[in-house]
Amino acid sequence: MKVALVTVGDEILAGDTVNTNAAWLGRQLAERGVDVERITVVPDRVADIAAVVNEYRAAYDAVIVTGGLGPTHDDVTMEGVAAAFGTEVAEHEGAREWLAGDGYAAHDLAEGTTHLPRTADLLPNPDGVAPGCVIGSVYVLPGVPDEMKGMWGEIADEFAGEPRSRTVVEAAEPESALIDRLLSVQEQFDVSVGSYPNDVVRIKLQGDAEEVEAAAAWLRERVEAPETE
Ligand code: ATP
Ligand code: MG
Repeated sequence: MKVALVTVGDEILAGDTVNTNAAWLGRQLAERGVDVERITVVPDRVADIAAVVNEYRAAYDAVIVTGGLGPTHDDVTMEGVAAAFGTEVAEHEGAREWLAGDGYAAHDLAEGTTHLPRTADLLPNPDGVAPGCVIGSVYVLPGVPDEMKGMWGEIADEFAGEPRSRTVVEAAEPESALIDRLLSVQEQFDVSVGSYPNDVVRIKLQGDAEEVEAAAAWLRERVEAPETE
């Protein structure tokens, strides 16, 4: 299963907010064996949201959009997603009933809170007011991280891929010195190999559990391990 993530928000493009939502979702999906093939950040602008959602829904099995659901003037994600489907937002009966059940009468809510793209299904927000939705293969979740995680809990089981085993071997050597061994482990074992230098080089191995274990054992014998305190 291949998925694209779309994060909506001017504040993320400006660097005011770190995109922890995409990182968190990426991790959840990877653990389920789902391939995340795109993470795109777009401004709070209907045409931009519509263009990327439209492109990605054609190219991937699912698209997860986060951010910009509230009823304030800068929250236009639902309009953007509606436009990607050639439709518009409208009052959603289910969303109103769900909020009424939570003790919110219509007159308590800001105009637009219960507007979802036409033909979308409601995704209730267990930790907030702004509802999410699913339309076709596009899932729309809130920007507030706790709310996003709560709503993800409702849909996570719809995302399934080939679970892969993975392990990390750390090496206290310059990455350039490791090139031969990285190549060799890839040739000998049926694993994918990622190399991520920082204070130490983190070598990430992914694949079938037995192969990953064998590859990790091979590497551990051949790289210099970081000192443990
Ligand atoms: P609300 O209904 O509360 O307005 P919303 O879905 O409209 O929620 P946003 O307005 O996009 O969400 O963002 C609300 C807050 O959530 C932001 O101020 C920011 O702190 C946080 N947030 C939004 N997007 C992200 C993200 N991608 N990663 C981390 N935090 C985020
Ligand atoms: Mg908002």
